[in-house]
Amino acid sequence: MTARGVEGRRITARRHDFLEYKTVCPFCGEPVGPRFVTREHSDVPPNPPYAASVKCPRCRELYEVVFSDEV
Ligand SMILES: [Zn+2]
Repeated sequence: MTARGVEGRRITARRHDFLEYKTVCPFCGEPVGPRFVTREHSDVPPNPPYAASVKCPRCRELYEVVFSDEV
């Protein structure tokens, strides 16, 4: 892992995987996707990928998902 944000709760996921609910909660393993986004924000200039705040529907943890289109 690289440096963490001040939140200390940041995971990286491929955007495609996230959109298809193939990203899992780092706390409980629940699949998460766009439905559980609480806030989207530009995070890594100059272009998307961006990041989103996600609230896990199962364990209620809040964390940031940073999108990457890298394979
Ligand atoms: Zn969870």
